[in-house]
Amino acid sequence: MKFIVAGAGLAGLNAAWELTKAGHTVEVFESNNRVGGRCWSEVLSNGEVIEHGGEFIDVNDHTIRRLCAEFGLPIVSLGIMFDRRWQVDGTIMSPAELAENIRKLTEAAERLVGTRGYRVSLREVAREAYGPDYADLPYCQKLFATTTCDPDKINGIAVARMFQGHSQDYIEHRGRVMAGNDAVAKEIHRRIGDIVRFDTPIVDVTQTDAGVQFTSAAGDVFHGDRAVIAVPLPKLKKLIGSLELPPFMRTAIDGRVMGAAAKLNVVVSGETPPRGMQAPNAPWWSWSTESKQGYVARGALTVYAGGKATMDSLHLEDGGSHWLQQTRNYRTDLDVSDDYILTNWETNPHTQGAYSMPGLDWHPEQDGIFDQAAGKIAFAGEHTHFASLNGALESGARAAKLLTLI
Ligand SMILES: Cc1cc2nc3c(=O)[nH]c(=O)nc-3n(C[C@H](O)[C@H](O)[C@H](O)COP(=O)(O)OP(=O)(O)OC[C@H]3O[C@@H](n4cnc5c(N)ncnc54)[C@H](O)[C@@H]3O)c2cc1C
Repeated sequence: MKFIVAGAGLAGLNAAWELTKAGHTVEVFESNNRVGGRCWSEVLSNGEVIEHGGEFIDVNDHTIRRLCAEFGLPIVSLGIMFDRRWQVDGTIMSPAELAENIRKLTEAAERLVGTRGYRVSLREVAREAYGPDYADLPYCQKLFATTTCDPDKINGIAVARMFQGHSQDYIEHRGRVMAGNDAVAKEIHRRIGDIVRFDTPIVDVTQTDAGVQFTSAAGDVFHGDRAVIAVPLPKLKKLIGSLELPPFMRTAIDGRVMGAAAKLNVVVSGETPPRGMQAPNAPWWSWSTESKQGYVARGALTVYAGGKATMDSLHLEDGGSHWLQQTRNYRTDLDVSDDYILTNWETNPHTQGAYSMPGLDWHPEQDGIFDQAAGKIAFAGEHTHFASLNGALESGARAAKLLTLI
């Protein structure tokens, strides 16, 4: 059988690999000139590997960890705590306080379901959970930054349910692929062979009894018996056009919200321990992770801002110099150089955002909606499963399985 795949991020690549392993003919179409999408690594001038996009590999991210084991790619510990960040006054949330914050969030969400139903924003859930000063609470600042979207426009019940259980099984020790997370994408690409057509954005999809047809921006037409669509959410919304979809699938896609985020990766020096630290009175943070030798931070500081409002406050239009100065002002533990890379995902033409969250109109009936195919098409990508590197890989494997079972 012939399969066509749109998008060569982790989702599309993993779908293509599973299909190739099952003996099918596969062709992948990618708008960019590289594989990996939002999994994109680079080396700073001092040799430190940094991530433009997806970075933290959780302890429970078994699919990416299994692939790394299979590919012989070591995952090194970051040596910092993602959920428990240092404040500039030298305090840090205890594990018990973190558990309490998560418990309050999830209980507030379920209370609101009882009184209001499911159409409740993340801001409303946060206010219900933590009271009128919710926005000053470090946990809440982390929550708003990590979800990358306007807290008035995403569903607080869905977000709270994502974190349910973390209060009991919270474990740190997240990691990164030592060679760069995109080594996973590059290795899948190497194994599937020369089947990715770069610089080929797909702009139209049609489905007939005979199969599926992709049309590229250049007007070329590609046919497959079946297809996987693994392009980012804003691109998908345009592509689905008049395609016939199962009940609730279109509302799940239309209602989902793409977030915005930016990163500044800076060359730093200083014999300090690795540390993730919240900016003073601001919802962005920075981290220096453990060197290969351990205990001492490596020579790279990553600064992260999630959400358009926060990004606007940092005046990214100046190329990052204001943000760099703000960082230097509070990361006095490190010697922060002028040598940096700014990545603004909001303006990236291939993704048009960072990653996605369920919109205000989310309803539980949308959960698991992508566990079915839309005729001969299956959808993959973080927006169809979980907004992570691991989630993208799993969604690709799911899409391949769905299409080979029908
Ligand atoms: C700033 C940032 C920080 C993050 N942090 C983490 C983290 O710490 N941990 C974690 O696990 N995850 C993190 N993520 C999320 C993670 O990176 C993504 O969930 C994952 O990489 C998405 O993979 P994907 O295959 O769904 O999409 P993508 O990687 O975006 O792949 C989709 C591909 O489709 C291509 N494309 C677009 N339009 C078309 C078209 N019309 N035709 C053909 N191809 C097209 C794109 O160029 C792209 O290559 C982060 C993401 C960002 C942006």
